[in-house]
Amino acid sequence: MASSSMENITQAMNNVLLDDEEGGIAIMDGDEGGMQDEFSTGNARLCLLGRFLTEGVLDFSAMQQTLAALWRPGRGVYIKEIDVNLFLLQFYHEIDIKRVIDGSPWTFNRKVLLITRLQEGVNLRCVSINSLDLWVQIHDLQPGFMSEKVNEEIGNQVGKFVSSCPSNFKGLWREYMRIRVTLDINKPLKRRMKIRKSGNEWIWITFKYENVPTFCFICGLMGHSDKFCSRIFDTPESEITRPYGTWMRAPFKRHTKMIGAK
Ligand SMILES: [Zn+2]
Repeated sequence: MASSSMENITQAMNNVLLDDEEGGIAIMDGDEGGMQDEFSTGNARLCLLGRFLTEGVLDFSAMQQTLAALWRPGRGVYIKEIDVNLFLLQFYHEIDIKRVIDGSPWTFNRKVLLITRLQEGVNLRCVSINSLDLWVQIHDLQPGFMSEKVNEEIGNQVGKFVSSCPSNFKGLWREYMRIRVTLDINKPLKRRMKIRKSGNEWIWITFKYENVPTFCFICGLMGHSDKFCSRIFDTPESEITRPYGTWMRAPFKRHTKMIGAK
C-alpha cells in the first residue's frame, strides 16, 4: 500500500517535471545547475498544493510572477498548473516553504490562495484544499482568561488552533490576544463566542480577522460578497439579514501584514 502510494507520488512528480516544464516557473538563486537534480528527486516534502478561492479564471503567468515577487524564496520556487485552478508549488528549502505557510494569507488580484502541504505518498488529485490560516484577534477577553490554554481552546472553536502570537503575554496589558488558526473555508466565520470560568458569569468574546479575504455579510463564508451569495436567489429581499460585517475585519496594525493585498 505504502509503496504503491509512493509510486503514485513519484509518478505524479515525474509527470510534473517532464511533461510541461514551460508551464511553470523556476526562480533560482544564481545556481541554475542545481535545479535539474533537485527536480528529479521529486521532493514531495517541500511541496504545497494550492488553489485560489474563486470560480473565475486566473492569468497563470501573472499569478506566478506575482507570487514569486511576494515570496522571493532564497532557493527558488517552481509553480506548476496541474489542473484548472490547481497548482503544485515546489520549494527547495524548508525555510522558503515555511515562510509561505506562516505568511498566509496570500492574494493575487484579490483572490486568496488556499494551500496545503503535501504528504509523501498522497495522490495529488485526492488532496482537498479547503483551509486557510489566518491571525485571529480575540477581543473582550478578561484578564483571568488570558492564558495559552484558553487561547488554544478558543482557537479550536474558531477553527483549528495553530499557535499563539509570541507577544500575547509579553509586556503590558494587551487589548486582545492573537492566535493563528486554520479555518475551514466551507464554514462561516465565527463572530463571537460565550465563555466562562466555573462559578462565574458568562462573558462574550468577539473575533476580528487580520487580512481576511472577501467574505459574505449574509452567510459569513469567505470567497464571495453579498452580491453573489446564493441565498439572495431563494430568499425574499425583505427576509435577508446581514449578521456579519466589516467590524469583523481587524484594522490595519503595524504587526499585521498586507502582503499582496493591493
Ligand atoms: Zn453568502
